Amino acid sequence: MSSPDAQTSASADLHFPKTPRDARERFRLAAEPTGAVLTSRSLLNASPENSREAHPEPNADLTIEIAELAPERQRLLVLTSGVHGPETPAGSRIQEEFFLQSARRLYEQGWGVLAIHGINAWGFLHGRRNNARNVNLNRNFSLDPATFQTRNPGYERLREFLEPTSPLHSIPAETLRLASGIAWRMARGEMSRSDLAIAAGMGQYQYATGLSYGGTEPEPETRIVAEFFQKHLGGPRERVVAIDLHTGLGSRGCLHAILSDGPSARGMEPMRRRLASVLKPGEIEITPTDTAGFYKTTGDMNDFAANFCREAREAICVTAEFGTIGADGLNQFKTLLMFIAENRGHTRGYRNSADREKLKQLNRQLFDPQDRLWQDQVLQRGLTLIEKLTAD
Ligand SMILES: [Zn+2]
Repeated sequence: MSSPDAQTSASADLHFPKTPRDARERFRLAAEPTGAVLTSRSLLNASPENSREAHPEPNADLTIEIAELAPERQRLLVLTSGVHGPETPAGSRIQEEFFLQSARRLYEQGWGVLAIHGINAWGFLHGRRNNARNVNLNRNFSLDPATFQTRNPGYERLREFLEPTSPLHSIPAETLRLASGIAWRMARGEMSRSDLAIAAGMGQYQYATGLSYGGTEPEPETRIVAEFFQKHLGGPRERVVAIDLHTGLGSRGCLHAILSDGPSARGMEPMRRRLASVLKPGEIEITPTDTAGFYKTTGDMNDFAANFCREAREAICVTAEFGTIGADGLNQFKTLLMFIAENRGHTRGYRNSADREKLKQLNRQLFDPQDRLWQDQVLQRGLTLIEKLTAD
């Protein structure tokens, strides 16, 4: 192994990056010595002019970083991070450590690497899961116009409840409104827990101020990812492993490896085989999308990547979701409350501006925990996933 050992030992003490600039610079510093070609793509013109939050240096940090290390090779590892803004630190840290520790070794074993860093740069800067146009990018990854016509009848039915048109009154009032609204609908048999999860989480393409909005066309961030996928993922090759790094749903510290039942489903058998020795409940699990607390989605990164590498002999395109608070009923409710209250405040305004800060903090607890044990588990399990999926 010829990777720089000095960096390997020093890297163990690094914290998760806190700002877009910190994350970007560390990614570049880690990737460059491996010989990777670095590209920075600005989202400058993609930022809306009517952003609600002024920033002292507008747009300065709105870049997506790309590192390409021999991506033409027969074996290609793809690592993507930051599709949801506040989830960027975990993904960024894993990418950084991968370049510091493992990239050269993989390169010597015949692998190429494509890493795309901080995809929702605006969301990271502003503490939002969605991008500047309120699009959840993980419902937007598609170049097929039909995706943007997908209907979500459950959302349409529950829209008034999920997406009130008046400003957010207060967080306690919203908690009460949601809890009583859910209880009332369930008692009347109008809706089950999974109806609610699907309505709110699957993705919808009609209401731009709504939850899990997937947009009307590929967003600028999606087009940048598509450009590099088009360049490198297509054509016959031996193996592709594409890992999209997320945090949020699931048991605390557990790595949930998730495939959809779309084109990425073909990766299930090889993934099971390659992860067999490290699967352990609560640590690393393969989680089907119909597990309670998780849900199927349209326009997600897994299937997007899997569509590009159809000609690869083996392709594993997986979402790596690191759990933060648990997926039981109470935590599902807390997550939903956060989504609804934050979306309402962002799109309709806050009666009390302190609620904006409170929700940002809650957002951070849900997607970017500052707890060192959690961070260490995430880093170690993320690296294990990469190592196992790329093993011979
Ligand atoms: Zn996510």
